[in-house]
Amino acid sequence: MNFASRLVQKVKDRFVQHKLKHFSDKLKSISQINMQDLNDERLKAEALKLKMRVQEGESLDEVLVEAFAIAGEAASRVLGMRPFDVQMMAAAALHEGNMVEMHTGEGKTLAAVMPAYLNALQGKGVHVLTFNDYLAGRDAEWMGPVYRFLGLTVASVKEGMTIEERQNAYAADITYVTAKQAGFDYLRDTIAMKTSDIVHRPFHYAIVDEADSLLIDEARVPLVIAGEVASSGNDGSRMAQIAKELALGEDYDFDENKRNVFLTEAGSEKAERLLRTGNLYEARNSHLLTALNCAIHAESLLKRDVDYVIRDGKLEIIDPYTGRVAQNRHWPDGLQAAVEAKEGIETKSSGKILGTITLQHLLSLYPKISGMTATAQDSADEFEETYNLNVVEIPPNRPNIRIDHDSRIYTHKEAKLNALVKEIAEVHATRRPILIGTSSVEESDQLAEELKKAKVPCHVLNAKNDEKEAEIIAKAGELGAVTVSTNMAGRGVDIRLGGGDPRQADQVAELGGLYVIGTHMNESARIDNQLRGRSGRQGDPGSSRFYVCLEDELINRFGIEKAIPAAYRTNKQDEELSASVFHKKMEHIQRIVMGQNFEMRKTLNKYSDMVEEQRRIHHEQREAVLWNDDTMSAAEKHVRLYYMDRSWSDHLAYVSYIREGIHLESLANRNPADEFHHRIIHAFEQLPDKIEQDTAKALSKLNTAGTADEIDWEKEGLKAPSRTWTYLIQDQFVEKKANIFNF
Ligand code: ADP
Repeated sequence: MNFASRLVQKVKDRFVQHKLKHFSDKLKSISQINMQDLNDERLKAEALKLKMRVQEGESLDEVLVEAFAIAGEAASRVLGMRPFDVQMMAAAALHEGNMVEMHTGEGKTLAAVMPAYLNALQGKGVHVLTFNDYLAGRDAEWMGPVYRFLGLTVASVKEGMTIEERQNAYAADITYVTAKQAGFDYLRDTIAMKTSDIVHRPFHYAIVDEADSLLIDEARVPLVIAGEVASSGNDGSRMAQIAKELALGEDYDFDENKRNVFLTEAGSEKAERLLRTGNLYEARNSHLLTALNCAIHAESLLKRDVDYVIRDGKLEIIDPYTGRVAQNRHWPDGLQAAVEAKEGIETKSSGKILGTITLQHLLSLYPKISGMTATAQDSADEFEETYNLNVVEIPPNRPNIRIDHDSRIYTHKEAKLNALVKEIAEVHATRRPILIGTSSVEESDQLAEELKKAKVPCHVLNAKNDEKEAEIIAKAGELGAVTVSTNMAGRGVDIRLGGGDPRQADQVAELGGLYVIGTHMNESARIDNQLRGRSGRQGDPGSSRFYVCLEDELINRFGIEKAIPAAYRTNKQDEELSASVFHKKMEHIQRIVMGQNFEMRKTLNKYSDMVEEQRRIHHEQREAVLWNDDTMSAAEKHVRLYYMDRSWSDHLAYVSYIREGIHLESLANRNPADEFHHRIIHAFEQLPDKIEQDTAKALSKLNTAGTADEIDWEKEGLKAPSRTWTYLIQDQFVEKKANIFNF
């Protein structure tokens, strides 16, 4: 470390100490309150008193110390777990709306109980947003007895619940739910025709678990509610055939980041001949050009078993961050159809979009949020800039003694694979447990195959089954266990040495604890650290090592190989490359990629923020019609809501149409973002008049004498979609374009 970096480190350390001091002062006050001598009845009575005080107007900050002391005592009686000091500090940091970094296995689930309890005292509901449905159920059940002891209600939300069950779950003081479920429920609420169908209360406070995954990796994933069936009318199979006939390098090419395709002149001519359409670039052919681009993209950039799998005749997208099958996810319309056509699967219409919201905007609807994760520091700037959340690093309960070894770097894939298998087999012979994080389903299968040949039995985790996955991951610390998983499978589940058996735990600790191996470097150091963090929990021994080769996707995609001396690129060798220059280069590249991705997300936000603002205005006006307005008859209300929803849905279709082609504006020397804003503002301004006219026209024809229930809305052509469905859009496609055209 040179002088400047030592200085920076010193300033940073002092700042961290300063922040921690504030929370340790709180901790001191909490520990001075003695609750241990009260019997259960008295403790419950104290909790009741506290609730009344808050309801009579005392602020949460005023009662924090007492509330945390009571909740901590309750947890230790009901669960047998007395919160560690560091958990109490984390709890205070959570209450103050921070992003709390706590290592895996430090007990975030319990730390969240104190702020959830405190904020729930206001009676407006608290959401604990978990990583998946399984954890929502598990955590609500696990922590539930503490809240109930304290006189509060707790519930979790699961897929498949009825409206009434959801209403009850959200009416609880504390609700454990995934952001996706909460978001889909929110979207359903935004098109409810009756107040009795609404399931959410106004949002109050959310504690986001595994927050980096949600707030960064998935933040821009749009949640969608769709209804009615509308076919795009594209002949996908023909386009897929044409895409197969075009040759890479001759007819089309990639941009340098391999994120987008474009047709060459020869390719355009060939496609025009095959399609018999004349000039593809004429406006009348723009839908064909878009469909062809999608088909080429699907053919050349999206790979089976890397980007998606085919299971039971269905296309399922693999989440690039977790490496698992992402249920309920679509690519944007054209691309989805193109991949289905490529694979010869019947294309199902994704319907007409009735409403959409990104996870980031969903979270902005909560007046207060805080987050917790094992890996926040690497993305601290992004948390601050995007969400106004400060990262607070909570020290571990026991010092972390995991050893993170330098990566081993090889020239080519085969050498890397051989080295991996050799290392795993050697370590496995000692019965030390090993967890291996791979980059794709394909790679995990390939490695498992090689391990089988080397007579090393292993568990492979690459399919989506949260419950089973949790079970396998929990056993990954047992003697002799070898677990091959994709990226971050099993987030939120603790790996204990010996799988929970204390005698075995000692044996595993003697062998060195859990050994984590990464088979590639990720785009973000944060994700690498997430994998490393599976080992060395609660002061356990452990170690980690990454294996990298110069043929890895990340290195190729970002042109890093150019930075590597030519001799290494051309001369393959079986032994690892030892030059330390490689280590520095790898870290440098990772920092550049992280920065690039952050910039890209910021630019993408420029687009979604404006639509979000419009959504907010539209939603407010809709709420006014649904709840506050008594001057309208029920029939008029229905008609007005019907047209409001319809014009909003048309507006969304228009926005996505504009969005698809807006990058072309830069060819005409116009700023795509300005042009986009200009057009959608103009379109949005037309909505109220259109709604007014349509409503008046419909009402003049309608016999409104009866109640709304007596009118046959279907016959009148004014029936709201009775069948709706929800899904997520994989927006990588949009990101890819954003990167190319810099909009
Ligand atoms: P994280 O989410 O931070 O990875 P968990 O909330 O899953 O960690 O907790 C990890 C483990 O630590 C759990 O098995 C839990 O029972 C245990 N644990 C947490 N807090 C305490 C405590 N205060 N006392 C004893 N055990 C605890």
